[in-house]
Amino acid sequence: MGLRSGLTGDRRRAMKTGPIPEALTRLDALEREGLTDPAERKALEAVAAEFRVRVSSAMATVPTAGVRAQFLPDVRELQVRPEELVDPIGDEVHAPVPGLTHRYADRAILHATKACEVYCRFCFRRETVGESGHLGEAEFDRVVDYLGRTPMVREVIFTGGDPLVLSPRRLGAMLDRLEGLGTLEVVRFHTRVPVVAPGKVTEALVRVLDRALPVWMVVHTNHPDEITEAASAALRRLNRAGVPLLSQTVLLKGVNADADTLEALFRKLIRNRVKPYYLHHPDLAKGTGHFRVTLAEGQAIMAALRGRLTGIAQPLYVLDIPGGHGKVPVGPGYLRRDGKAWIVTDPRGAEHPYRDL
Ligand code: SF4
Repeated sequence: MGLRSGLTGDRRRAMKTGPIPEALTRLDALEREGLTDPAERKALEAVAAEFRVRVSSAMATVPTAGVRAQFLPDVRELQVRPEELVDPIGDEVHAPVPGLTHRYADRAILHATKACEVYCRFCFRRETVGESGHLGEAEFDRVVDYLGRTPMVREVIFTGGDPLVLSPRRLGAMLDRLEGLGTLEVVRFHTRVPVVAPGKVTEALVRVLDRALPVWMVVHTNHPDEITEAASAALRRLNRAGVPLLSQTVLLKGVNADADTLEALFRKLIRNRVKPYYLHHPDLAKGTGHFRVTLAEGQAIMAALRGRLTGIAQPLYVLDIPGGHGKVPVGPGYLRRDGKAWIVTDPRGAEHPYRDL
């Protein structure tokens, strides 16, 4: 995919290259920066009316087409395919109290806010991100009450929106109450902030995360050029505070759906002390068909990476089964049965027999 479907070479030359002081949330601001084409304004207004627009200042200045395609509205988002869903991974199906998803026995997802620093055009929560405000005090009381009654939950996963848009003070207060339950082993944050708005990873935030209850962080990043020098510095601050860092990446056509781009991303992550954790097959979110690859394409990319990329840089390729049925690895497989024996495929594609005891 190009920079955008309708952005011509002339428009690209008109793009500004200086710093952009604040996030861009309006089409006229995107046009002013040369990021969208005024000729498409009417169609893009229809897109923006359906799905919110926000490009952080850090991402608006990255010139790479594969980075910008993730954040700039595109007329193709108006094409909704029959298989696409409002709630592709079933957040609402497993919500015992508002703001909490409890799908697996030992962990629960806390929707701390619906706001984000950027609104990604492929987001599986695109129908709800950006809606009014953060989780209120009374709602959080109910979440804490549920967790207090449900000690099987050992891990709370802060997600959103993006939980790191909350102030360090608010996050600290929430973490104090969760830590006070005495039943949790770990808290995890899923966030895009260290990459898309690295200035928000302040010393105050880092101090709040450095606590007795271990705080892990999964950083969402999809392209090596997103990890700017400022993002590397933010990751370093988190690392120094003892926050273990993992990454999650969405496989996206026009962004990163080739082995070279993903290899560069995963290598850059380990250089920044971030362990690649998940490569997500794209979800069936409304108006995102132009980003989707097939499972066979995803498996071929993973097979190509197997032979050439160190094991610590290999993520697990996963699919969130539509309807809230959970997340599973989707290969490629290296093992098949042949009578009583197993046949194992090596990274070069050659097959070898293996016999169990
Ligand atoms: S930051 Fe995360 S939750 Fe927010 S729009 Fe992007 S993918 Fe969705």
